[in-house]
Amino acid sequence: MTDYKNLIDGKMVDNGQWLEVLNPATEQVVGRVPSCGKEELDSAVAAARRAFTQWKKTTAEERQQVVQGISAAIKENADELYRLLTSEQGKPHAQAQQEIYGAAGLAAAQSTLTLDDVINQDDDTRLSRTRRVPVGVVGGIVPWNFPIMMAIQKIVPALVAGCTIVLKPSPFTPLTTLRVAELIKDVVPAGTVNIITGEDTLGPLITEHPDIDKITFTGSTATGKKIMEGASGDLKRITLELGGNDASIVLPDADVQKVAEQLFWSSFSNAGQVCIAAKRIYIHEDIYDDLSKAIADYAKTVVVGDGSQQGTGVGPIQNKKQYERVLDLIQDAKDNGYKFLTGGDKDPSGTGYYVPITILDNPPEDARIVAEEQFGPVMPLMKFASVDEVIERANNSEYGLAGAVWTKDTDKGVEIAEQLETGTVWINEFMQLSPFAPFGGHKQSGFGAEYGIDGLKEFTYPQVITVKRDAAV
Ligand code: NAD
Repeated sequence: MTDYKNLIDGKMVDNGQWLEVLNPATEQVVGRVPSCGKEELDSAVAAARRAFTQWKKTTAEERQQVVQGISAAIKENADELYRLLTSEQGKPHAQAQQEIYGAAGLAAAQSTLTLDDVINQDDDTRLSRTRRVPVGVVGGIVPWNFPIMMAIQKIVPALVAGCTIVLKPSPFTPLTTLRVAELIKDVVPAGTVNIITGEDTLGPLITEHPDIDKITFTGSTATGKKIMEGASGDLKRITLELGGNDASIVLPDADVQKVAEQLFWSSFSNAGQVCIAAKRIYIHEDIYDDLSKAIADYAKTVVVGDGSQQGTGVGPIQNKKQYERVLDLIQDAKDNGYKFLTGGDKDPSGTGYYVPITILDNPPEDARIVAEEQFGPVMPLMKFASVDEVIERANNSEYGLAGAVWTKDTDKGVEIAEQLETGTVWINEFMQLSPFAPFGGHKQSGFGAEYGIDGLKEFTYPQVITVKRDAAV
């Protein structure tokens, strides 16, 4: 077991009070991290504030170089990092590798983003120009499903925009983030990136801190609402990436054998703990029987187990609370007599937070497993008859994060996509985010955007400078 320290003002530090982190596959402690409160937060914020006075004056090229250094440090240490990530998060090694390399790639790509000045008016009367000014010190709060990707997608745009940041990982998955902190300690100027760990109670202290200017948060909708409330005291800027209940719609012309495996992974990657996983799959009645059988047959070939073992396709649920929630949803489906194509039958008393791959056969629209975000390896397949009907059912959700349409007729796919009330819709693929396109949710899936120029702008405010050219002075 290793102790991991926090990064504050360019130094790795601890306060002698520790939180234990469990491996969800074994329920054994894999590491300890500092348990911080107001005092440590105050020093991290003060360091970020001091660093901001210099960092905001750097050029875009200087900031780009620093961010590329972060990308390189992650890539060079990818082997160590992905193993550590599996040990705390549970995801299979191959998916942990994807996350680590994905985070390095995201940092490299986003380092190239710049916010150029915009000329609003340039004539004999007046020159009016908009420049983007960094907001200041950012508080970043991230969840446990993609700890490194989420940390990078907060740290990088903050730095690129000219802000400094205090980041709090989830108490369930702080280890890899603190190892990255150690690796980038000498890459970033002291105080620009601070990473501190603590229980959930550290979150509201960040949200309400008087010297933090903006909160960027990824996590549940329930916590997002608390953050909005906490940040309202001094009108902090906020970006919220929250939950989703994404619908996939499969039209009758889709090739059953070709889409079955892709649909499976669109739901079960990372054991279903993905905000943009397909959480409801609507299949046209003409192909429902064949496709649901093909998905269930494929599911039976996928191994559920310890992510560090070769051959594992689906790892454990990341933490006990979520594990119990997913088991409760399965029990509810059983109690209501819904039909299972696979799963739903395991005794949950063994070691490790394992849930069998569970696929439900056409449960009703008001079933909890359809209406709620499951965030686990449980997928409801539902039958539909007409496009109008399925659009209405897909949109009948408090969430609006993403969705997908599967069809050979891509024009038809786009026509349906344009009627879905979500921030992203994929045609014939899933979970593809571009570093250059905005990612954000509609309705209760979020507020604002990350990624791309739109995401970068959220770390700045527009300042308009006007020069009157024909002034009588
Ligand atoms: P969570 O909301 O419980 O926790 C997220 C983070 O918030 C953690 O760091 C936690 O310590 C902190 N936190 C908890 N209470 C807080 C409070 N009152 N104030 C401030 N911070 C607080 O979410 P989770 O269980 O870690 O993650 C799962 C959820 O995240 C799912 O709903 C999922 O859909 C969502 N998610 C969304 C996206 C997205 O981009 N939209 C991505 C990943 C996960």
